[in-house]
Amino acid sequence: MSPPTDAIDADTIVARVATANVVGMGGGGFPAAAKLDIARRAGVDTVIGNAMATEPESLGDDFLLEHHRSRVLAGLQYVRIAVNATTAFIAVGRGRFSEPEIKVVDAPFPAGEERRLTFAATGREVSANARPTNVGVVVFNVATLAAIADAVDEEPDEARYVGIDGQARHVPFATTFASLGFTTPVRVGGFSGTTETHDGYVTATTLSLRAAETATPCIRCGWCAPACPVALRPDALHEAFVLGNGAASVADCIECGACNAVCPSHIDLVNEFRSMKSRQAKEVAREAESRKAKARVDAREDRLAQLTARELAGRRARRERRRSWKTDSKDAEPPPADRGSTP
Ligand code: SF4
Ligand code: SF4
Repeated sequence: MSPPTDAIDADTIVARVATANVVGMGGGGFPAAAKLDIARRAGVDTVIGNAMATEPESLGDDFLLEHHRSRVLAGLQYVRIAVNATTAFIAVGRGRFSEPEIKVVDAPFPAGEERRLTFAATGREVSANARPTNVGVVVFNVATLAAIADAVDEEPDEARYVGIDGQARHVPFATTFASLGFTTPVRVGGFSGTTETHDGYVTATTLSLRAAETATPCIRCGWCAPACPVALRPDALHEAFVLGNGAASVADCIECGACNAVCPSHIDLVNEFRSMKSRQAKEVAREAESRKAKARVDAREDRLAQLTARELAGRRARRERRRSWKTDSKDAEPPPADRGSTP
């Protein structure tokens, strides 16, 4: 593969990435061409390749850096050109690399989370509802960078590296879990991932696969609370979930999976919290909708009340005029007919 140079223009890069349908392979699945476009319009100056490997089972990122580093670095440069950035580097949590574009970054767990990584690598803070592009940074997973390089060089790879039982394997997209030897439910994407049936198949966002454990009831061991990097009480949230209650604090969950990793009962806490968040988000949306509907009804009633008040005031005024005419001008002509205003 020839090294990318600024001879290839940004539009060609974005067009080839769009043609190859590259999506974020770190788990998000967001279309890479759209992300490039957003970053370009936001005027970012820094590109970070994310190889922080927060999920211990996702071995593909390490494997790519170890064995296909030139593809990853080519993708990094293509992204830099596409978004017109001045700085581009790969952030790793560990390892010794001689390339100047690869930097060891010391970020708190979960180090691969975009906001934490951006702050640790650049010192730019990304607020809770913002994205790294809001502070001039765009973050791409290293597997996505390799896929971007393949797309721009017009050699797309319809496969990805997947961590399976402690090994990184190159697996074509659409390979069924069953054909990889799974006969029971499968944990896809490690501790922060999801559990699927063995009829599922590998996609661009499949980071890792292993047989899912069977969950048993909470034994109140309390191990999950100290594991949480944002100081939540996963055991209390789990109880609220089981009882069908809400809990405002679940909104702070960053879905890192640390509680899942330590839970001896193998409860899928992360997915419980995801569904709580989505339920609460729907409730908030419903409440906002009903507030809007009530405001519309109130406004209509106000309008009707104003019309009625004007009408009554008009009738009173007309009645007064008639009375004063009868009193003061007995010989004068009567006033014109009072159209439709009989009380
Ligand atoms: S998934 Fe949520 S609750 Fe569990 S450890 Fe991470 S942030 Fe805390
Ligand atoms: S780690 Fe698991 S079993 Fe222990 S308290 Fe938390 S949810 Fe319950």
